[in-house]
Amino acid sequence: MNDCLFCKIVSGKIPSYKIYEDENFLAFLDINPVNQGHTLVIPKKHSKNILEIDEETLKNLVIIVKELSIKIKTILKADGINIMINNELDAGQIIFHTHIHIIPRFANDNLKHWSGKKYKDNEAENIVEKIIEF
Ligand code: ZN
Repeated sequence: MNDCLFCKIVSGKIPSYKIYEDENFLAFLDINPVNQGHTLVIPKKHSKNILEIDEETLKNLVIIVKELSIKIKTILKADGINIMINNELDAGQIIFHTHIHIIPRFANDNLKHWSGKKYKDNEAENIVEKIIEF
């Protein structure tokens, strides 16, 4: 993946503010943070996103996300943490190398949650049925 930004960060061709690194994973600050301390955690092995990553790598990735989330929340005295994964372009994925966002949240950070919608007649039942039958 020659033109993958995160592979270039892994190889050191592009610098980053690393906060964690081991043999298989890397965590670094997002350069356009939602809040200070906004971190990206990635596997060093390239995969496009969570829909394609191998399960063993995903399990270990999530454990590191948990550990770093506790650390970041404690050190920054955050009131909460959002953990986000954007998969595919229309879901907001910009870099097509699997990454998990850790976003520290503060009581007065003025970020808004997504607004919810309502199901119309039988929509919920239809979706449940399709998913279960797949
Ligand atoms: Zn990559």
